[in-house]
Amino acid sequence: MWSVRTIPAFSDNYLWLLAGGGGRAAAVDPGDAEPVIEALRAGGLELSAILITHHHADHIGGVERLLQLFPDALVCGPADQRIGGVTRVVGEGDRVHLDFLPAEFEVFEVPGHTRTHIAYYAEGAGGVGRLFCGDTIFACGCGRLFEGTPVQMCASLTKLRKLPDTTEIYCAHEYTLDNIAFAKWVEPDNEALLRREQEALAMREAGRPTVPSRMATERETNPFLRFDQPQVIEAARRRRAGLTGDAEIFGEIRRWKDTEFD
Ligand code: ZN
Ligand code: FE
Repeated sequence: MWSVRTIPAFSDNYLWLLAGGGGRAAAVDPGDAEPVIEALRAGGLELSAILITHHHADHIGGVERLLQLFPDALVCGPADQRIGGVTRVVGEGDRVHLDFLPAEFEVFEVPGHTRTHIAYYAEGAGGVGRLFCGDTIFACGCGRLFEGTPVQMCASLTKLRKLPDTTEIYCAHEYTLDNIAFAKWVEPDNEALLRREQEALAMREAGRPTVPSRMATERETNPFLRFDQPQVIEAARRRRAGLTGDAEIFGEIRRWKDTEFD
């Protein structure tokens, strides 16, 4: 068994602490060291590994400080000069085994938000998978295309959405309500989406994170995973006639949010 602890950071980031046997833990995307150090202290844990999804400061800003305190920690990340401290470079299909967690992480290359973005997927207890995907899939949204093309991001999301329905998606930001507000413009009649809005509102009012979400929920409500659904295709074509193919539809939905909502 291994558990995932949620560490809120900055204004809307989530860092994840994976606690395993023998008081050892791994941190995913430690953008800030202090809240990680605090969570380790509170749990009586020692940091043995760091998993990095991409080079943005809100995902790697705490790595240097954590390595001062835990110099032996394994640091996994993509091949990217912009990320310091990586001791194990990983790419598509690589597997990361951490001996203190009964899990093996499979690495997916998911370019789009950045050129070298990767995601980590592990089977958890009871066969429920956990996906640590940084800024690719968000709850009811996806990351902006800072370095990649719609073709690349669409392929990345297509890869991730094939994971089982029960997969828990640990994304790195609490953007859910804003994302749902946009999704309703794309699919105003999507009942699963309207239900999700009520659930998310209740969670936020109770001060709870809406993350992790589940793959089944994303496939039903996230417009950025629904580029091949008739309502989403229609909504994109109302904005730009003649769009054809998954990546063009996806690209138009992304552009729509970029230009009118963010
Ligand atoms: Zn980012
Ligand atoms: Fe981020």
